[in-house]
This record gives sequence, C-alpha cells and structure tokens, in this order.
Amino acid sequence: MSFQSKPSVLISRQEIEVTVNRLAGEINNDYRDKHPVLVAVLKGSFIFLADLIRRLDLPLEIEFVRLSSYGRGKESSGKISVVQGLSTEVKGRHVLVVEDIIDTGLTTNFLLDYLRQKEPSSIKVCALTSKPSRRKFPLTIDYLGFTIPDKFLVGYGLDYDEKFRNLPDICFIEEEQ
Ligand code: 5GP
Ligand code: MG
Repeated sequence: MSFQSKPSVLISRQEIEVTVNRLAGEINNDYRDKHPVLVAVLKGSFIFLADLIRRLDLPLEIEFVRLSSYGRGKESSGKISVVQGLSTEVKGRHVLVVEDIIDTGLTTNFLLDYLRQKEPSSIKVCALTSKPSRRKFPLTIDYLGFTIPDKFLVGYGLDYDEKFRNLPDICFIEEEQ
C-alpha cells in the first residue's frame, strides 16, 4: 500500500486552536475542584495534550501510557497490550483520558478497561477527533473536538510510519491510484 507523499490540510491550526479552547473551557468548568489525572496515550496525543493543558486553569496531573496497537503502517493488528502503564495510583481519583483520534474504538475501550481495574472515582474521555463511521466498539466521548470522515489523518502529533507528526495542521493522506 502506498500513499501520496503530500498531505492535504483537513483542519487548520486556527480551527484546532478554537476547538482546543472550547474543550478546555468545558473541562475547566467540570473539573474545577477535582484535581484530575489526565491520561494520554503515546505517541499521537502529545501535541494535543500539550496545547490542552496550557488552557486548563486548575490543578492537574498528567500520565502517559504506551499501548501496542497499530504497528507501522495504517492497519490495526487487532491486538493491544500495555507497553508502559501508569506510574501513579489512580484509585479514588478523577481520570480524564486524552485521545488524539478514536477510530474503531478498540484502543480506547481497552484503555478504559485497564483504567477501571485501578478503581478511579470517575473516568471520562476527551478526544480531539473521532471517525464515527468506523466505530466497531461503541463508547461515549465526553469531550469531542472534531467529527471527521473516514480519512487517514497525519499531523498535529499523528503519524504515518512515524512521519508527519510535526505538521501544525491536521492533514490527510490518500492512497495512490
Ligand atoms: P482504534 O483502536 O480506535 O481503531 O484506533 C485508535 C488508534 O489508531 C489511534 O490512537 C491511532 O494510533 C490509530 N489511528 C486511527 N486512525 C488513524 C488515523 O487516521 N491516522 C493516524 N495517524 N492514526 C490513526
Ligand atoms: Mg491514539
């Protein structure tokens, strides 16, 4: 499978900024006295997380988890495992999962199961993008940035074979005909 090398912009950096501000406003309202633990999935969420938390005006902690799901390339293997888990206890804490993209929902559902075993007081999901047409494993997204069509996204942290994470806009790439 081969992709054109030039990504096209789907969501501009200006639109991203407006939406990250909106999400942060909602989270600021809901978590004011809750001292949440934000759990981000590496690597793709790192830029979204960095922008989001700088708009959050409340005490919080961040944790990173690393899951093996997609290998190199575009298709999921369908099997997930925890490569790097939480480095702190979240029992009794308010956990907010920060996701770059929810596609079939497999990864986020797996992460939610993993986190529920740690007995937090609450768990919610914040996702910058979602492809509902691809969903196979339903889930509730409490804070959603953009609903997107079934395209393969790169940029703003998202990669194709580790490339394109540094693009400032959310872009898509298409398969060559
Ligand atoms: P899911 O388990 O929901 O099918 O897929 C979630 C994971 O698949 C994301 O965290 C991301 O790693 C990868 N993924 C899904 N769609 C895309 C996409 O359009 N672009 C990129 N770069 N990764 C994607
Ligand atoms: Mg992800």
